[in-house]
Amino acid sequence: YPSIIPMAQNSSSPLPPLKFEAKPPNPVFDPHGLDSNLLEKIAYDALVWSSLRGLLVGDRASQKSGTVPGVGLVHAPISLLPMPFQESHYKQACEVAPIFNELVDRVSLDSNFLQESLARTKKVDAFTSRLLDIHAKMLDMNKKEDIRLGLHRSDYMVDENTNLLLQIELNTISSSFAGLSCLVSDLHRSLLHQFKQHLALDPERIPENASANQFEEALQKAWSEYNNPRAVVMIVVQPEERNMYDQHWLFTLLMEKYPLLATFSNFDIYNVDDIVDRSSIRKTLAEIDAQGELLADGTLVVDGEVVAVSYFRAGYAPTDYPSESEWSARLLIEQSRAIKCPSIAYHLAGTKKIQQELAKPNQLERFLENKDDIAKVRKCFAGLWNLEDSSIVNDAIERPGLYVMKPQREGGGNNIYGDDVRVALQEMQKKGTEEDAAYILMQRIFPATSPAILMREGISHKEQVLSELGVYGTYLRNKEKVIMNNHSGYLMRTKVSSSNEGGVAAGFAVLDSIYLV
Ligand code: ADP
Ligand code: MG
Ligand code: MG
Repeated sequence: YPSIIPMAQNSSSPLPPLKFEAKPPNPVFDPHGLDSNLLEKIAYDALVWSSLRGLLVGDRASQKSGTVPGVGLVHAPISLLPMPFQESHYKQACEVAPIFNELVDRVSLDSNFLQESLARTKKVDAFTSRLLDIHAKMLDMNKKEDIRLGLHRSDYMVDENTNLLLQIELNTISSSFAGLSCLVSDLHRSLLHQFKQHLALDPERIPENASANQFEEALQKAWSEYNNPRAVVMIVVQPEERNMYDQHWLFTLLMEKYPLLATFSNFDIYNVDDIVDRSSIRKTLAEIDAQGELLADGTLVVDGEVVAVSYFRAGYAPTDYPSESEWSARLLIEQSRAIKCPSIAYHLAGTKKIQQELAKPNQLERFLENKDDIAKVRKCFAGLWNLEDSSIVNDAIERPGLYVMKPQREGGGNNIYGDDVRVALQEMQKKGTEEDAAYILMQRIFPATSPAILMREGISHKEQVLSELGVYGTYLRNKEKVIMNNHSGYLMRTKVSSSNEGGVAAGFAVLDSIYLV
């Protein structure tokens, strides 16, 4: 690709910023150079470990694997060994996580900003429009969310040319793999220990990853804030979910601590008989529509249980709303007193359109006061533009390889790359509609590629790969009191370098961990 870089809407200077950071020397380790007998041994042990320790997903080949636990399990797709990653980048990503948490919270409170930024998108994107309708209804009701819970994941790639850590996106709904990613770190650490003589890699260089415990702790603390020992945490799920073990990890941890919690939490009224026999329920949006009701005081009751926290692992894609039932369930939850993770405002704050608006000059300043914080967040922003800017659109038509075109969608597989960018933009120009408002344009980031061994369905593959680091963030506040605001573990995803997209569940990538260099 040419070294001429498009002008960014979010800065007056060319992008990426003309600031290059020193790279550490390349690590010498080449997994493709592993002796084939040794590779086979490591791979075998990795498969055993994954099976015994629950690093698992449902097997596509098995029909019931998305609905019945314990049936048709397969190890999660993984990288056999951790991916070298610059320590300073890792620290940087951890450091900005609480600032992003705070930013999402502030943005969520600015209803006009959300509605106005998404106003053009609303006209052409039916899904976003429905979300905005729910948001507008809450404004009409003057609905306030005193207790706000964020379980986010901010994703990054390191641009090879500039060695800058640049944000791909910030997920505020259904941030996945907090349950499994800590296991990948454990697995890799265990393999480095076991094969120390052969690999000469230091297991201590894989940073501590407590993603599952931290998510569990945030859910548990939110539940405590709701202050009703009888209430449950409800996980909103898709009717079929092959990534169910990732979710079950969080709720198994929650359940193990629950009796203790119910006893020691600071409830107003407490009685041993108040402890219910389970702390969480799994429901689809359709089930919530059928079994849910609002009491006069706004309490959400589903299937006879009071819901303290509604944690969404569904509801982020149009396919999650096949009928009006699902939309009325989403509305019911939003209207209720239950703590939502995310609330509709948190959900909207995580859209790509808002990401692009926040990257415009002087926007971060509206939401954050601390100059250092603003600078740290801005440093992670790649070039982001709306499609009203004809000079950028023309440049993207000329040099489509330098851009990614993104709709307001989640879950992978929705973006437009390469020549398809040109075709899509030209078609839109020809039609002259407002369809462009459904998308944003983003600077394409080109990370360094490296050799790795990827494991899928028991088979190892030698591939040339690139990686995306996600850092989890947990945020909980009750009115003015911030109860939690942390970085909370990480997820490395590695994919073959020839693939555009990076979803693990979508089948593009594998789970990985990092080896600090
Ligand atoms: P989603 O919400 O669907 O995950 P993302 O913005 O994360 O959407 O895009 C999906 C994938 O596309 C990412 O995981 C990454 O692999 C790739 N991608 C997205 N933006 C860029 C970019 N600016 N440069 C390079 N690759 C990108
Ligand atoms: Mg996303
Ligand atoms: Mg993503």
